[in-house]
Amino acid sequence: MIPALITVVIVAGLFGLFFVVERFVPLRATKSELFARLIVNLCFSALAFGVAALIVRPAVQSAMHWAGLQPFGLIHVVPLPAVGQFIGAFLLMDLSFYWWHVLNHRVPFLWRFHNVHHIDPDLDVSTGFRFHFGEVAMSAVFRVVQVALIGISAPAFATYELVFQANTLFHHSNLRLPIRFERLLNKVLVTPRMHGIHHSQVQGETNSNYSVVFPWWDRFHRTLGLNVPQSEIVIGVPGYSMVADRKLVNGLLMPFRKQRDYWRTPDGKVPRRETNTEPVNPTWMEE
Ligand SMILES: [Zn+2]
Repeated sequence: MIPALITVVIVAGLFGLFFVVERFVPLRATKSELFARLIVNLCFSALAFGVAALIVRPAVQSAMHWAGLQPFGLIHVVPLPAVGQFIGAFLLMDLSFYWWHVLNHRVPFLWRFHNVHHIDPDLDVSTGFRFHFGEVAMSAVFRVVQVALIGISAPAFATYELVFQANTLFHHSNLRLPIRFERLLNKVLVTPRMHGIHHSQVQGETNSNYSVVFPWWDRFHRTLGLNVPQSEIVIGVPGYSMVADRKLVNGLLMPFRKQRDYWRTPDGKVPRRETNTEPVNPTWMEE
């Protein structure tokens, strides 16, 4: 079993590592001032961590404990050796997170909160934990159902949690990997180019590439879109691309205010992709 402290140390170390390396080999050009953006993202992250520690973690632990006592959960339906249960639970966790992410985009009330993650005008490792605390609080309900229905064991949960956090930081990072290497890595992991497209201002591109750890779920559900040249991507949500939207207080209040047209810029334009209007090969990663 992986103690929570080890997860925290590894994840903090990866945060520092990606933060330094992405300054030297950036994938996308940035458009906002780093320091101010970093402060805002760290504040969002601190609030998100607070809610996760106070609400989500205790709820998940008790659901897991309850399911373990019965035992209850999908993982017990078919008799499997311990290693099979571990792998099965790991895959089901990642698949169900894919569905939760899709719901966050499709259900207007959830999107009000998830939008706050997407309006970050640049994408780097600090975006990885930039979530509205309301989104984190609501995820507690999903997480309780998720761990109980799957019937995941505590060691499998701790392992998934570590991989989930580590890959969330990795795929949000602005790390330029050699394209051939990234194409290969993307066969098994969600990578920065793949997730960068999910943060594009083009609506159809934001509504693609929902996977967190394994990219296979987007392939299965036909939501994969890799054929977007990275140099053409503008990060953010068009309707919330004003400088004032970058302020912490505006971000915190955003879900509770009247919502704008998300996909239209303040001057009325709807960002579209001029090239690749026919996605002939969405499984081919562009440079
Ligand atoms: Zn999203």
